[in-house]
Amino acid sequence: MKKIEKVLQAQGGHWVGDGFPVRSLFSYDREAQENSPFLLFDYAGPYNFPPATTPRGVGQHPHRGFETVTIAYEGEVSHRDSTGGGGTIRPGDVQWMTAAGGIIHEEFHSPAFTKTGGPFRMVQLWVNLPQKDKMSKAGYQGITSDDIPVVELANGAGKARIIAGDFAGVHGPARTFSPINLWDVKLNRDAEVTLDLPEGHTALIAVLTGHVTVGDTGAGEAEIIRFAREGSDVTLRADGDSQLLVLTGEPLNEPVFGYGPFVMTSEAEIRQAVIDFNSGRFGQVGA
Ligand code: MN
Repeated sequence: MKKIEKVLQAQGGHWVGDGFPVRSLFSYDREAQENSPFLLFDYAGPYNFPPATTPRGVGQHPHRGFETVTIAYEGEVSHRDSTGGGGTIRPGDVQWMTAAGGIIHEEFHSPAFTKTGGPFRMVQLWVNLPQKDKMSKAGYQGITSDDIPVVELANGAGKARIIAGDFAGVHGPARTFSPINLWDVKLNRDAEVTLDLPEGHTALIAVLTGHVTVGDTGAGEAEIIRFAREGSDVTLRADGDSQLLVLTGEPLNEPVFGYGPFVMTSEAEIRQAVIDFNSGRFGQVGA
């Protein structure tokens, strides 16, 4: 059985552009090794947007050295990037963007959602890349809800959507650079479930809605339970209908140097990222 190491809580909220009211549940400026390979977890919303005529969001900006993974629960986001990648993600869809050697992108509410407004809720996760892959080619995986297999949990406890990695012999569609599991789990009220998480992985269970109890530790909305890397199984009890994001990953055990949207392994690599961006080497959106 895995022991609980810590419950992580949001460090207050902020807006990303004018489209994403987020709570950062963790960020690489603290405990980067403990959370490796995960760098950042932003929970956007829940928030109700009124109808508008101009899409809200965040305009063109760069990333280097990692991947951004956006999971839509409510609302729609459209994305365009300098590799020519783009698309709109809707509830149930996932955008897996590999910034790697450099990308510029923009993230806005879709035209349709802008027009209607309504409830908005998303997660954006930043996944670090191993040093050897940080300068590889940028890319984009648009994963729709239909691509994501659903596993029914034992005893009617709920269900798990397997976005990345493996669960009970079912393989998720996202391609990753290092071993990662990402499961979107819904538990029914009073359900009890035992999850088998890989020994040695960083293991995080984020509570998005509802409340769960593990042993005598509870976690509610916008809290993350971080488990020790030793051991494998975790038994959760849902105190109400609950939606969780389960993240596990093999720790990279490499230095983490970050500066805003660039995360590398040394200060020299960060300086190079700034130079490359300022000299236009990240390409441009719509080129
Ligand atoms: Mn971005």
